[in-house]
Amino acid sequence: MGKLDGRTVVITGAARGQGEQEARLFAAEGARVLLCDVLDEQGAAVAKEISEEAGEDRARYVRLDVSREEDWAAAVAIAKEAFGPVSGLVNNAGILRFNALVSTPLEEFEQLIRVNQVGTFLGIKAFAPEIEAAGGGTIVNTSSYTGLTGMAYVGAYAATKAAIVGLTRVAALELAAKGIRVNAMCPGAVDTPMANPGLLDPANMSDEAREAMAELYGRVVPMGRVGRADEIARLALFLSSEDSSYITGQPFVIDGGWMAGVSIM
Ligand code: NAD
Repeated sequence: MGKLDGRTVVITGAARGQGEQEARLFAAEGARVLLCDVLDEQGAAVAKEISEEAGEDRARYVRLDVSREEDWAAAVAIAKEAFGPVSGLVNNAGILRFNALVSTPLEEFEQLIRVNQVGTFLGIKAFAPEIEAAGGGTIVNTSSYTGLTGMAYVGAYAATKAAIVGLTRVAALELAAKGIRVNAMCPGAVDTPMANPGLLDPANMSDEAREAMAELYGRVVPMGRVGRADEIARLALFLSSEDSSYITGQPFVIDGGWMAGVSIM
């Protein structure tokens, strides 16, 4: 028995990184998954691999720019047509920009709001009625360590991630009576192309840069390492399955102890 047998789950930003691992793990636990992204080739390839591994039509890819309401409407129709009622959503897609607040162009600030924050809102708006119609289910939003504490030079990003925690709480309150639980994940540093662009083009990352990154996480993260995408996927699975049946409206920190405090020795 899989933890998600009989469920259909929509996952945004699923072409790579955490979303890809979530799609693979959810399918391995019995779910049918609709992978959504703007990286069409990669997303379609991951969906194809998942179905091949399962030996049945278990995953589909659809282009969905989370900031576009019309894309969400199309995704609802495609998900239902492909797999029937949808009972789960993981709002995972997101973008990050580094900049000092006073140097951040307004367009950059608004772009992050549009993708991270509006994207999460639109996902809830589009799929909560579907999940209710399916008899209830789960929504997992992807916030961040920076949604709960400060981090210099990611002001726009942190603002959107704090907003996602707020959205999560309100959605949980409004949707509980409809049988929908809504929680948020707050990862620290995770080894994906977002935090480690060297993964996209290893040739472009010097050994010194690699060592500097390992040294940084060794110093600031009590567990001494960056997180892995599969570790975040397992939290998403917990929050999407019956294992978390009495939990809603909460942000879950998953950061190797980073937010626990500082060590002065
Ligand atoms: P990633 O960059 O590898 O993956 C993000 C995915 O989102 C990509 O596939 C990208 O194409 C997709 N995406 C971007 N804009 C989109 C849009 N408008 N519509 C649809 N898809 C879009 O990074 P990741 O680490 O896997 O990020 C997943 C989530 O985790 C993000 O919300 C990110 O903010 C969050 N997060 C990441 C870290 C980290 O250190 N990597 C830490 C905390 C939170």
